[in-house]
Amino acid sequence: WNTEQLIEQDIAHHLHPVTNLHRHKQGGPVVLVEGKGSKVRDTEGKWYIDGFAGLWNVNVGYGRTELAEVAREQMARLAFQPTFFGLATPPVIELATRMHQLLPHHSHFQFTSGGAESNETAIKIARYYWALSGKPEKTKIISRRMAYHGIAMGALAATGVPAYHADFGPLPPGFLYLSAPLAYRNNPGLSEAEFVGMLARELEDLITREGAETIAAFIGEPVQGAGGVVPPPEGYWQAIASILKKHDILLIADEVITGFGRTGAMFAQTTYGFQADITSFAKGITSGYIPLGGVGITPEIFERISAPDRMFMHGFTYSGHPVACAVALANIDIIERERLWQNAAERGEQLLRRLQELESHPHVGNVRGKGLMALVEVVEDKTSKKTFDASKGMGAKLMKVSREKGVIVRCNDTGFAIAPPLVITEAEVDQMVNALAETLDEVLDL
Ligand code: PLP
Repeated sequence: WNTEQLIEQDIAHHLHPVTNLHRHKQGGPVVLVEGKGSKVRDTEGKWYIDGFAGLWNVNVGYGRTELAEVAREQMARLAFQPTFFGLATPPVIELATRMHQLLPHHSHFQFTSGGAESNETAIKIARYYWALSGKPEKTKIISRRMAYHGIAMGALAATGVPAYHADFGPLPPGFLYLSAPLAYRNNPGLSEAEFVGMLARELEDLITREGAETIAAFIGEPVQGAGGVVPPPEGYWQAIASILKKHDILLIADEVITGFGRTGAMFAQTTYGFQADITSFAKGITSGYIPLGGVGITPEIFERISAPDRMFMHGFTYSGHPVACAVALANIDIIERERLWQNAAERGEQLLRRLQELESHPHVGNVRGKGLMALVEVVEDKTSKKTFDASKGMGAKLMKVSREKGVIVRCNDTGFAIAPPLVITEAEVDQMVNALAETLDEVLDL
């Protein structure tokens, strides 16, 4: 099919996720056919810098034929076996072992096909752990506003972005929300340490109000991503982790975006110096070459849930898919061999420095980021920090113009989110930021 036919049939038959379907009917998709490094090419031969690494996930970049080869080999040898009924395959066993080497505070790992399934698994393991500890009333889950944990019902309930909840209710009960650690909007003028104190008190107050005996776990992204890229203030995770420990509440780190190098270390728990009881991951574990996610748990949780009289009644058909696990192992090899977390740290500093130049723009309210995840927040008015009204279609305009300039980033009414492959070069970072600066000038020259 040529481009025109592809677009026509896409509009006719493809129901796009997280999309303004009305607007999509008018324009249709950009159809991408090839990728190399940090760049992708459309059907018309135009190359773009993929400033969003697919969906924050193509960490090793495009065109890694060795991953295709590993998938082909495993498919040809043994395409599938479940991990139910006491079965396993070498790739899933090797991957669980490899994950233990990467996250030594976790002894056991279960795999899924993506981030939402991983968070569902994490939440259910937390509840199961307390049920088997003789505390079946410890079920509530604390999360934070601006959190994104996935689109399946439990993960959705933990998500703290109202737009994802609207029109899909009722949500499962038992989810509680705290403030995002976002200084730009939530710090009333305190020092960084005082701001952390304020957020810690909010958690303490919530626990007092609800009763620690009713709360199973706190789930949080080390750096909030989809809700608006929020690197936490210094000391935040230590403060949260110590309160949770004091009250016997499990900590779930959602490392779906931050895992596998993005924040400048293999996992953001290293970047921020804390250890969760349960870690969920996905995306970067295979760099998107094939779907895979999973969770890691501590020996203490494993001991409790491996009780002699119980079946662990949770898992998916594709938990530990051998092809996905084989690709994950090869993908982790690449990340380690090329020390991609180091490039994420170095290019991340360059990216943030260059993006901060945009703060002088009359409509750029805030620039923030950590490693290779960053956000340029646009506002209608810098003093009131008011965002543009949805009716102005700012996100769509930013998307159109940035793509014309050869850059794909996530655009919405609050600005650009940027998360390129971890292999991005110095020249590509500059080229991308220059294109985004021109886009802002063109779209926001109001
Ligand atoms: N958790 C985080 C932090 C995410 O960013 C995402 C997706 O963007 C998810 C979970 C959900 O992952 P998936 O879309 O693979 O279900």
